[in-house]
Amino acid sequence: MSVLPLRNPATGETFGSVTEASPAQVDAAVAKARLAFEAWSSTSLSERLRYLTRLRHYLVEHGEELAEKISQATGKVTIEAYMTEIFVTADTIRFYEKHAPQMLAAQPVPTPLVLWPKKSYIHYKPMGVIAVISPWNYPFQLAIIPMLSALVAGNTVILKPSEVTPSTGLLIEELFAVAGLPEGVVTVLHGGREVGSRLVAARPDKIFFTGSAATGKKIMAAAAEHLIPVSLELGGKDPMIVFEDANLERAANGAIWGAFTNSGQVCMSVERLYVHERVYPEFLRLVTEKTKALRQRFPAQAEVGSMTSREQLGIVRAHIEEALAAGAKAVTGGLPQTDSMFIPPTILTDVTPDMKIMREETFGPVLPIMTFSDEAEAIRLANESPYGLNASVWSSDKQRAQRVAEKLLSGNVCINDVIISYANPHLPFGGVKESGIGRYRGPAGLQAFTHSISVIHDPGSKKREFNWYPYTEDQQLMFSGLTRFLYGKRPKWDRPTLKAIWRELKRLR
Ligand code: NAD
Repeated sequence: MSVLPLRNPATGETFGSVTEASPAQVDAAVAKARLAFEAWSSTSLSERLRYLTRLRHYLVEHGEELAEKISQATGKVTIEAYMTEIFVTADTIRFYEKHAPQMLAAQPVPTPLVLWPKKSYIHYKPMGVIAVISPWNYPFQLAIIPMLSALVAGNTVILKPSEVTPSTGLLIEELFAVAGLPEGVVTVLHGGREVGSRLVAARPDKIFFTGSAATGKKIMAAAAEHLIPVSLELGGKDPMIVFEDANLERAANGAIWGAFTNSGQVCMSVERLYVHERVYPEFLRLVTEKTKALRQRFPAQAEVGSMTSREQLGIVRAHIEEALAAGAKAVTGGLPQTDSMFIPPTILTDVTPDMKIMREETFGPVLPIMTFSDEAEAIRLANESPYGLNASVWSSDKQRAQRVAEKLLSGNVCINDVIISYANPHLPFGGVKESGIGRYRGPAGLQAFTHSISVIHDPGSKKREFNWYPYTEDQQLMFSGLTRFLYGKRPKWDRPTLKAIWRELKRLR
């Protein structure tokens, strides 16, 4: 069995190790989770939520300490670890405490008159064992929020955290031990892609995957073998469109936060910025000035920390290198040093749509800027991407902002803000195109961890139904008459139909 070192990417310090799960351990974990499912799914929702409340209290009491550990695993500054991992998780728990009972309650739906006196409703049934496979960029919240959603909905969970940030996997394991969940309800399997693919092959009842589009495709192909449902939360190349009537000061502040927060390692980072040509010089002056004022160090008194993954650092470097070689200019930052995990916040101008920096997910602190001359061009440029996760539109004209927002091929859009749609747990989150399949968060996101069971209920007092055997001429008359009356151009009853209905009604009693 191989061992994963626990390493702080910002300092290079190694602070322990964790052993990867063996194939037998993966299979045993799935079997144990399946066994635990029956009792857990029969536990009342209020009891399940009590475990979450306990977790929320623990998060609040130990938030700073947990954030420091997350910083240590990722190289992000501690304030970001607190805001985007701890706060967001506590907020999501509170959302479930308040709204899960209503979101998971049986939902009555109307029943058409022809089906009278039946009643219909939707029952949200837990699916079984949910495999959560998570990435390294927000290693805490992108693992724990899907886990909590699955648990609230009555499922048992197996987490396979990222091998790049294994210490956060250990942290999550400890946290669930504190919550005191029954044996087998939550299992953490440490390890890399082999452990992940073994988990998929062990046939969980659903796979909730967050990571790259390339891995998402592999997981979906493997899941297809057994028709295992998947939710895929994948990458992005998010556009930001700044119109000439935008509040430029706000847009510049939003752009640098959106591009450089978490060192740009955000699936919803601003990765392409399109600014109207008329305000470009002023906007560029503002973002340049503000970027130069950013402090980069680890872990505090700074805005920007280090990169988390050395592999990703190579990709960012390659994108910057290619752009500069093809004529782009670095207004701030530039090509990072090869031996440093810190990439300085980099603004690139003179970029073109064919450069990798404008086409592929960079996932680093780089803000490439282009100009546009009218609304149609801005929409066309923004939509020219295989991805569609988040986007932002900046304008003081409400109608224009909404019109453009609705034309963007993107799962989420922010107007005069960046990334923040994710922070509202009432809103579903997810991508279009290669940014993913399915939604989580919001009612649809919680219900995605259930099977929606359609139930139709007849009082059972009549001895037969209109549509049952034996077929008669009256049934034929009745259905064609009903079709003409209910759905025809000129609804009108005719005497033979009415007589047929009368005779059929008598047959029911
Ligand atoms: P990745 O695809 O390399 O790995 C993600 C996880 O999948 C890891 O736990 C990894 O061990 C596992 N894995 C890899 N191969 C596997 C296989 N064949 N079978 C099963 N599991 C396998 O992604 P990453 O580099 O960890 O994360 C960065 C990517 O995640 C970026 O593309 C980013 O945009 C995306 N992301 C998306 C969202 C979202 O919500 N849409 C959020 C964060 C990150």
